[in-house]
Amino acid sequence: MKTAPAPLVAARTEGTRIVLDDGRELLDGIASWWTAVHGYNHPHIRAAVAAQLESMPHVMFGGLTHEPAETLARRLAALLPGDLGHVFFTESGSVSVEVALKMAAQGARNAGLQEKRKFLSFFGAYHGDTLATMALCDPGEGMHHRLRGLFPEPLWAELPTGPAQRSALLELLEANHQSIAAVVVEPRVQAAGGFRFVPDEALRELRRLCDHFGLVLIFDEIAVGFGRTGDLFACTGAGVVPDIVTVSKALTGGTLPLAATVATGAVFERFYSDDAGAALMHGPTYMANPLGCAAANASLDLFETEPRLEAARSIASQLEAGLSPARRKSSVRDVRVMGAIGVVELTEIRDLEGLRRRFVAEGVWIRPLGRCIYLMPALTITPDEVGQLCRAIVRVLDDR
Ligand SMILES: *Cc1c(COP(=O)(O)O)cnc(C)c1O
Repeated sequence: MKTAPAPLVAARTEGTRIVLDDGRELLDGIASWWTAVHGYNHPHIRAAVAAQLESMPHVMFGGLTHEPAETLARRLAALLPGDLGHVFFTESGSVSVEVALKMAAQGARNAGLQEKRKFLSFFGAYHGDTLATMALCDPGEGMHHRLRGLFPEPLWAELPTGPAQRSALLELLEANHQSIAAVVVEPRVQAAGGFRFVPDEALRELRRLCDHFGLVLIFDEIAVGFGRTGDLFACTGAGVVPDIVTVSKALTGGTLPLAATVATGAVFERFYSDDAGAALMHGPTYMANPLGCAAANASLDLFETEPRLEAARSIASQLEAGLSPARRKSSVRDVRVMGAIGVVELTEIRDLEGLRRRFVAEGVWIRPLGRCIYLMPALTITPDEVGQLCRAIVRVLDDR
């Protein structure tokens, strides 16, 4: 954009720091779009990727398999609840959601349910930047509303957070369930669409409704998976077993692009047949890239050996305390915290780029989005550093 300043040049990263080529150091409040949960350059992940680089950086995943992928698939299946155990690897979050949609829609066709070709999405959602996932992003304030009309419109609903929304959703499903292939939701936190929180009870309600109407329930855990909300996955924390889960962002601890779509046995069974035409035809060239799988396995090691979930929970209380002065500002509509996510929602942000520049001047890397200033730092961040990030936000709000 003409109005946007030139991007800063990052020279190195270390822990919670981004070092620019001019020597300036920024304390990172958003962990490179929420990926670097163990901080940057964690030695354990670096060593695992270096070892994999020596033996096999990549090999195609058609007709071949390999230990890093097999191990990662087994570990993800063991960590996810219920019988979520059939793992499909891709290279980006958006594509993992595409695969989930395809599993639901083609699975219905394979079962003879041709009329199931619609998806239901929720206001405030963000599910990616490819054509099918753009369609599922909030139709009003979402970043893709200018492209509406280019892709098939999903059905829209409010999340069932209260009696009115619940009965509206029930009515919508009663009228449309026969044409719906899947219901797609970001559990616990609708992230890039505006950082709205989703109560666990609403997720349990979605599970009940999808069971009742025989619909596939997809949890997009790309933002919240791997400890962000204080549980390893939102579905485990909420006690809900969806039919399909997507994970990406923090999967490799912020090192390499990798994503996974994980389905239950029931979803898998719709494809497991002698009919070649029923196969799930999807095979990204870099599917299950061994470097990415090695990084993800190393990242999972760290969740086992280091206290990440405990850290996410104590970051929550640090954020509560640090952001509470923001509640008193007239420009602030709401302050909310869940796990290692702190959100200051303003009534409006007029000069987004100016605000972003202001944070750089404060020595912190915080990138407001929409109406929200948010923090989603590395789970290894110190209480002191959380304090610095919060104080920077409060100072910047003071000047508004
Ligand atoms: C980031 C994100 C995506 C898209 O992932 P990409 O890797 O950017 O394609 C999808 N869903 C959610 C919830 C996300 O946060």
